[in-house]
Amino acid sequence: MKIFKDKHTLQKEILKNKGISFVPTMGGLHKGHISLIKKSKKSKLKTLVSIFVNPKQFNKKVDFRSYPRNTRRDIKQLKKLNIDYLYIPTYKDIYGFKPKNKVYLDKFSKKLCGKFRKGHFEGVLNVVNRFIEIIKPRYIFLGKKDYQQLYLIKKHIEKKKIKSKVIECKTIREDNGIACSSRNSNLNKKQKKVASYIFNYLTKLKKKIKKNYNLFNINIIKKDLINLGASKVDYLENYNIESFKKIKKPNKKFNLFFAYYINNTRLIDNI
Ligand code: AMP
Repeated sequence: MKIFKDKHTLQKEILKNKGISFVPTMGGLHKGHISLIKKSKKSKLKTLVSIFVNPKQFNKKVDFRSYPRNTRRDIKQLKKLNIDYLYIPTYKDIYGFKPKNKVYLDKFSKKLCGKFRKGHFEGVLNVVNRFIEIIKPRYIFLGKKDYQQLYLIKKHIEKKKIKSKVIECKTIREDNGIACSSRNSNLNKKQKKVASYIFNYLTKLKKKIKKNYNLFNINIIKKDLINLGASKVDYLENYNIESFKKIKKPNKKFNLFFAYYINNTRLIDNI
């Protein structure tokens, strides 16, 4: 595994390859990231993983500062996985140039997380656009856990006619059902239990509202989540996962999208 901190040295090495399979991450690696990496390795192209905690996608400084980082442990894990390249850029390496493409931000960026984290998706698309320009990946592996992010990146790539293909990867979960997330490491045992109660409650709820949509009473559900131990609920909404239209009837293919806090830790998922 070769490690790069500078885009010019990286480009010299990778642009001679037939194509790159790219797995962008913010580090704090867990089973979710590892499944993306394993899928990427099956592509037969060289696998490049990036670790960059992008300050521009955090709307609160305290959230950026408390984001779990463990680069030494990450490097160990990546070496074991035998990936080809690891890119750990500095802020200047990413933001010290003007990208050719302007970011395309689909209007869906205003919904869900976009409503509650001002500037979040602008920051995500900004960094992804830059990574794409530096790496020119053939494939980009993204997790469905962050479905809204995945959708918006796909829209940007489509609109800008970028020759990278997004490979959608299924959500990997802990044994108690909750989606693996770097942020889970900020939860103590009791808080993890709360997250699993909430996951179970919402999984059952989805089954029920598939049969009877009238059971989707947002005020009652929010109260239930608070009673289960959530500190605050940002949103809980149903969307058709292909059209990203809000569903009004239970018969369509939909996912329940939610974001909530346990103390200061914000968790998102869709089921
Ligand atoms: P992050 O490091 O949180 O920015 O995530 C990097 C990539 O891993 C994104 O494409 C995420 O959607 C994906 N990812 C994060 N958690 C999971 C998970 N539990 N299952 C699958 N993919 C995930």
